Amino acid sequence: MTTTDRPLRVAVVGGGPAGLYTADALTFDPDSNATVDILERLPVPFGLLRYGVAPDHLTMKLAVNSLQEVLDRPSVRLFCNVEIGRDIEVEELRRHYDAVVYATGADADNKLAIPGEDLTGSSSATSFVKWYNGHPEAMDFDLSRASTVGVIGAGNVALDVTRILVKQAEELRNTDIDEATLVALAASTVTDVHIFIRRGAEFAKFTTKELRELGELHDVDIVVDPEHIPADDAGELGAVAKRNIALLRAWSGRTPTGATRRIHFHFSTRPTEILGEQSVRAIRVERSGTDGCRDIPVDMILRAVGYRSRPIAGVPFSDETATIPHEDHRVIRDGAPQRGEYAVGWAKRGPSGVLGTNRSDAEATAGAVFDDRVELLTQRTEDFGGALNLLTTRGTRFLDNDAWNTIADREIQLGTIHDRQRIKIRSWDELVAAGSPAFTPS
Ligand SMILES: Cc1cc2nc3c(=O)[nH]c(=O)nc-3n(C[C@H](O)[C@H](O)[C@H](O)COP(=O)(O)OP(=O)(O)OC[C@H]3O[C@@H](n4cnc5c(N)ncnc54)[C@H](O)[C@@H]3O)c2cc1C
Repeated sequence: MTTTDRPLRVAVVGGGPAGLYTADALTFDPDSNATVDILERLPVPFGLLRYGVAPDHLTMKLAVNSLQEVLDRPSVRLFCNVEIGRDIEVEELRRHYDAVVYATGADADNKLAIPGEDLTGSSSATSFVKWYNGHPEAMDFDLSRASTVGVIGAGNVALDVTRILVKQAEELRNTDIDEATLVALAASTVTDVHIFIRRGAEFAKFTTKELRELGELHDVDIVVDPEHIPADDAGELGAVAKRNIALLRAWSGRTPTGATRRIHFHFSTRPTEILGEQSVRAIRVERSGTDGCRDIPVDMILRAVGYRSRPIAGVPFSDETATIPHEDHRVIRDGAPQRGEYAVGWAKRGPSGVLGTNRSDAEATAGAVFDDRVELLTQRTEDFGGALNLLTTRGTRFLDNDAWNTIADREIQLGTIHDRQRIKIRSWDELVAAGSPAFTPS
């Protein structure tokens, strides 16, 4: 075998959609002669597909099935519970693999930078999303004392958290939400959710499908002030804005049905302060085109004003864009794009686009790896054993493909016990235990 005949050894850091689509593009064709090791910080794969996408978006969650097929390929190995920058250094990866692809996503949140933001009861939608999605690091939410919630944001995440807040817990039993969270949602006393959107309805980033879902909810009234809805001929409206406005206008004309829960839209309304002594009591807002501010009583605030990436030790990072700097998919290190280091997904593009956007991004990134193939194969001639060698030598407990399959089986088993299809295991320790061969289900 000549040097360039051997398999290309690739490490993908991050087992979310972008990382898995990259593994797919690298190994789909058996003739591509590439092997991929996926290194994931969490005990389980799928990133925001498991821990971001709302549990009641069942069709979207089905994307897991095609990504599972990628994990089932012999050329793809999974190493969960392994954090790059902590358990393995980036430098080590660069030495052990021909190419390293960073697919580390963007799971930190932006702040509003207004007074009162740190009061008890004010948190990020990111935290709430993690909670209802059973993320092992999620904080707890108690909805049994709140009646009115303020959601700040103009994107689909704001709509997701609103929908989960007003849906009846029973309607979520066909999802994989864990039992304790379902009990907490059933105990919710929330009746009103106010969504505050800084700009006019024509600029909101909601997609119509997600917006329309709110109007289809059982026992929920939607309150929209007709004065907040621009005229059809207001400026040059894009197709999505037109559809959204048509929907909002139809809702603004509806007579409330006396439903037990309500969603109130406030467009062109900017929060200026969150009020309260220790806990949130109200939100002060300013409506553009009007004088003065108005205080709206709320018990809880969720800010959905964007996700951002965190820097990873040893990986170049731009504070300005909160992404990994890159050119033609190659990471820029010391001022030059590197053959051998690549970025993909939200860590590269920032937190925008749907699942499918990561797929095309991954295909293009894998294309760059293949373009560099000959050079990559000739610059590293020795096989140092990769993650398996590093982790085994230092005794790090990792969860591989078999462990993940055992966890998945256990989640299905848990579902059967409760007459549901599947129930997520929430705690980190339980996930690790469930993935260990000696584990006996209780
Ligand atoms: C609340 C929410 C709802 C969404 N709903 C939808 C929807 O309905 N439809 C849709 O099409 N899209 C939706 N999206 C978008 C979709 O989830 C993203 O496009 C996609 O998850 C981005 O993929 P990614 O792999 O770049 O990032 P992620 O999914 O975040 O994956 C990154 C992975 O890298 C891991 N990682 C990070 N740092 C390290 C490290 N140092 N070492 C090892 N591993 C590391 C993380 O643990 C994570 O698993 C939603 C997003 C959010 C936030």
